[in-house]
This record gives sequence, structure tokens and C-alpha cells, in this order.
Amino acid sequence: MELTSLSVAALQEKLRNREVSPPEVLRSLEARIAQVDPAIHGYLSRDFDAALKLAESADVSLPLGGVPIAIKDVINVNGEPCTAASRILQGYRSNYDATVIQKLKAAGAIPFGRCNLDEFAMGSSTENSAFGHTRNPWDTSRIPGGSSGGSAAVVAADEAFASLGSDTGGSIRQPASHCGCVGLKPTYGRVSRFGLIAFASSLDQIGPFTKTVRDSALLLNAISGRDPMDSTSLAEPVPDYTAQLGRDLKGVKLGMPREYFIEGIDPQVDAAVRAAIRHYESLGAEIVEISLPNTEHAVGVYYIIATAEASANLARFDGVRYGHRAEGAANLLDQYGRTREEGFGPEVKRRIILGTYVLSSGYYDAYYLRAQKVRTLIRRDFTAAFEKVDAIVAPTSPEVAFKVGDRNDDPLKMYLADIFTIAANLAGICGLTLPCGFASVDGQKLPIGLQLLGKPFEEASLLRIADAYERSTDWHRQRPPV
Ligand code: GLN
Repeated sequence: MELTSLSVAALQEKLRNREVSPPEVLRSLEARIAQVDPAIHGYLSRDFDAALKLAESADVSLPLGGVPIAIKDVINVNGEPCTAASRILQGYRSNYDATVIQKLKAAGAIPFGRCNLDEFAMGSSTENSAFGHTRNPWDTSRIPGGSSGGSAAVVAADEAFASLGSDTGGSIRQPASHCGCVGLKPTYGRVSRFGLIAFASSLDQIGPFTKTVRDSALLLNAISGRDPMDSTSLAEPVPDYTAQLGRDLKGVKLGMPREYFIEGIDPQVDAAVRAAIRHYESLGAEIVEISLPNTEHAVGVYYIIATAEASANLARFDGVRYGHRAEGAANLLDQYGRTREEGFGPEVKRRIILGTYVLSSGYYDAYYLRAQKVRTLIRRDFTAAFEKVDAIVAPTSPEVAFKVGDRNDDPLKMYLADIFTIAANLAGICGLTLPCGFASVDGQKLPIGLQLLGKPFEEASLLRIADAYERSTDWHRQRPPV
């Protein structure tokens, strides 16, 4: 087996047994990236020399000692670019580490490489990047999903052992599903957002992309916890997320939400997810049919709340503080206008306009306030469901990865890509996707993801449930043709 196809856990074992050194690991990884990334374009930039310095002094006895981890280009790493895949941040370099980066470094990991994304994390295909789209390693004529498409593709293509992404409405789970990796969106408040470029502050959460469930637990161990720099991070104790792995599923109740098995979902996806649910039954879990009646409102509510918050968060990109500044402005106001006109791409502008509209006086009550009320109903649906079941099983996406260019002229169709992931962000609960099969389309194998949704701060039980499935199947071992 190639070194770069190893899981984080397997790599650690080799590092601790001194079969390989951290600088050797980094060199193999760089060679693999040079070989495959021209076809994938998962990375926007990398600083090999900075990473090598960290590798040379890495302590392999630490929890993630000597393990390189790729980072979505929306999370600040001191001294590195952080573009959010936007022209408006071209040339900007971070002067501090995000809390998750400080924590990764404290655990011995080496942040290495900046992953491509949809501009400011707005999108479901990574086609909204100002610096070119990322391709799916299973079929390079298809999208990897988004917005964290780069973070998903590099893990799937063995150009990274693991990566970090962010999930506002599905941006970890949907690309992980399309690329065949494990993607975890932690509970809102589990992981600090300090140093993450904000998209929608009440929905954003950082989480890991990995090759296995155990790796997901290892990364979550490292990045979780209360942070005085983020007042929305909570002081819930951080358990060892690997502790419950390997246990059986006796007594576990899984809910199958009626509203997630609907007409219009790709028949191959539906079949794979139903087969996975039967597999859970054979592992001893009890399957219970449940209802989340407000599901149909999730996409509408999301595009009001997320755009409203984005319009406020993106106000700071004015050409004064960081990144791009337009030339030849007549006065300060003109400079703001020109900088934003030149710096933001079409999707970002669309969202700022929509968000400003729903917050404007006269429309606030009809849109924003009403959306907040429906958000409460969506949260209550989950609270009620979790009185009956331990976790919820559903498809991650209604479809497999679509072709590059397929949705570009239809934003509404693109927004539906997250129909099954958005509600978890609105409710603040945790969610995970793991590979559960393949569809065959035009002779190509395309990954299908199974989504598990869990109670707030019950990531440990979600990981345990995911691990039981992973241990008894081999979907996660299959590698893309790239
Ligand atoms: N696709 C959704 C959007 O475009 C979700 C993005 C995300 O989770 N960052 O907003």
C-alpha cells in the first residue's frame, strides 16, 4: 500500500514505530500532490518549506504527531494566504492561527496546503471558486461537491491524509459524500470558529474530512472544546471520541425520516441508503420510522438566514483592511463600491443583495423574522425525534456528483443540492456522512454517502454508530481511479 493512502491512525503507527519520519511523510505527500493535483486542482497553495520545518521538529508521541493536515482556504494559518477563493482576498496573508490550527499544532499535526472551495463557502460544487474549479477524483468531468470540494477531493485522491472544512448548510457532508470520504459536522458550539472567515455565524462549524471514522474521532479530539476567543463555543466536556468505537449496536434505535425518502431522489442513491439501513438492522439496531414535518421549509429558511448573516459578515471586505483594493477611486465610498464590484464573484454578490433585502426595513418581519420562527420549528422536529431515537439515518445528498457546468445557470437547482443537509445546521445538531455504496453512471463508479444525524454534543455516539457500519463493510477501502 502506498504511504499516502494510509489512514491517519495507520500513518501514526508507522511514525511511532520509526518506520518512517515526518519529513519523509511530507516528501511522499508532496510527490503525490505533484502527480495528481494537476488533474484535480484540490489545492490553491502550499508552503512546503514551512511544513518541512514543523515536520523536522515534530513529536510523534503527540496525538497527531507528524501528521500533515490540509486546510480549507477559509481558516487562518499564520503566515499563509487565506483567500476564501475570492479575488477580494488575493494577496492577503494571515497574521495569526485560527483556534483549530493552534489546537492541531498543539497535537503535533502539521497544517499543510490550502484547499479550494466555493468563494466564501457559497456553493455546492466548488465551481464558484475565483481560481478555477476542483474535479472529482472518481470522474474528473464531475464536481466534487461543495463548498469544501477541495478538502474532500484531496482526501479522496490520497493527496492528504485528512483535512479540515467548514459546514454552513452541508459543505462538509455533501462533498464528502460525493468524493467517498467520511465528513463530520460537529454540533454548533463544539468547535471554535475563531479564525474561520465567517459566512453565516449562527450556522458555520468547522469539521474534519477523513478516510475512516476512527480518523474523524482523532481529529475531533484535537479540535473540540471551549475557546475564550469564541463566545459561541460551549464548555461541554470533550470526551475521548475514540473510546466508544468498536462497540456493538445492541439497543441502538435509528430513525428513518419519512421526508428524506421522497420522489425525485436518484434511485441508485435510494437503494444504497435503504440497503445500508437493512445492514444496520442486521447489526442489531432497531429501525423506527419518524417524521420531521418541517423539512420542506429548510432550504427556504436557510437561504434567508444564511444570506442575511453573510451580508453583514462580508461588509468588512471594503478594500481598506485587507486584500484587493480598486485603483482610481474618486472618494472613499467609490473605493468601497469598486473594490467590492471587482473583488466579489456573481454568487457572492447575489447573496449580499438577497441578504440585504431580507433585512431591510419593511421586509424584515416578512422574511427574516418569519424564517427565524420556522427555524425554531425545525429544531423542535429534531428534539421530538430524539426522544424516540438515538440517531437519524438518511441520504446525505439526493444525487451523486453531477457534471461540471450542469447547474451553473440555475442557482435554485444548485441550492437544492443541500436539501438533506441544511436542517442539521439550522437545528445546530451534529451530522456525519460515510460511504455506503456506489452508483454506476455511464460506466463510472460514483460514491454514495449515508448521513447520520445525532443529538447535540453526542458526536461520540454518532461515531460509534458510523464505526459499526464501516467495520462491517468495505466501501471506504475503495480508491478512485485517479
Ligand atoms: N451549499 C450551501 C450554500 O451554498 C452550503 C454551503 C456551506 O455549507 N458552506 O450556502
